[in-house]
Amino acid sequence: METILLSDNEAQLEIAAGFIKSGEIVGIPTETVYGLGADASNEEAVRKVFAAKGRPADNPLIVHLADFSHACKYTSSIPELAYRLAERFCPGPLTMVLPKNEQIPMITSGGLDTVGIRVPSHPVMHRIIELSGCPIAAPSANTSGYPSPTSADHVMRDMNGKIAAVVDGGQSEFGVESTVISFEGENTVRILRPGCITREMLLEVCDEVVIDHAILHELEAGQKAASPGMKYKHYSPKADIIMVEGDADAFRRYVGDKMSADTYCLIYDGDERNFPYRHMTYGEDSSEQAHWLFQRLRELDDIGAKKVYVRAPSSEGVGLAVYNRLIRAAGFEVIRI
Ligand code: AMP
Ligand code: MG
Repeated sequence: METILLSDNEAQLEIAAGFIKSGEIVGIPTETVYGLGADASNEEAVRKVFAAKGRPADNPLIVHLADFSHACKYTSSIPELAYRLAERFCPGPLTMVLPKNEQIPMITSGGLDTVGIRVPSHPVMHRIIELSGCPIAAPSANTSGYPSPTSADHVMRDMNGKIAAVVDGGQSEFGVESTVISFEGENTVRILRPGCITREMLLEVCDEVVIDHAILHELEAGQKAASPGMKYKHYSPKADIIMVEGDADAFRRYVGDKMSADTYCLIYDGDERNFPYRHMTYGEDSSEQAHWLFQRLRELDDIGAKKVYVRAPSSEGVGLAVYNRLIRAAGFEVIRI
């Protein structure tokens, strides 16, 4: 199959929406990362998404809608708190796990009786949902296990020949996937996957926000994941990632005797001055680090890095999302200095 590259003008978005309507899959920009979009109600189309990614069948797809008011078409009940969260955070990078109805096939929900619903704010994704008239199931558009794509070029590299088209909408704004939450009692939510809607932001609407244990800890053998994606090795470039937690000076001293020809460091922008070893930077504050992380992990592979020492990000606020992705890329190995 030839994968065509589309731009984001109306005529090209109509082509993309036509592919979705006819059961094909398309790489689509969103404000988080690029998604691999398919008609969520079409089992054959969804099957193609799992095949293109090499995604395990029990890892559910998020369903994207043009407006939260459409969620009642695909769910069996919606708590009042969900409406209040939608008012504050939709459209945007928040996914709410709700009981699904028969409009969402089991293949889309990875065999669960719930469905993750999101209303993306990116105008291209929004327009393609409108033009296709479909709820769009869209996981991140990477090969399963590899860092998520934040540009059309990343999607092309992973998906060329496997999907109908990729729409180029520029670089993704946030750079990490949506915050996924489930509901527990009247005014409590649980964060299953951290993203750019932080615990602090959710607390503006909820009384209590629980951080799921699996966000920072490896699941033990036999332990059930509330968020199935959390049980898989994830976000990993080919290079071996080693997370090192400490300040800039301690980090520099630690890596000093460990550098070799294909070893690199990934450090903060502000660490760069007088840093004598081969390196890349991934921003300074947590939002910048979220924006750049996946791009840098891919670039490190491109330049042939075999081992990468990463100065660990903060785990506060948006930093929790960055920390969560990196700790998985590092296979939960963190060196504290
Ligand atoms: P991705 O599609 O790559 O952004 O990954 C979506 C992730 O959202 C999955 O790996 C799950 O961990 C989570 N997710 C999606 N739907 C559900 C659901 N119904 N229940 C729990 N977690 C979900
Ligand atoms: Mg993903």
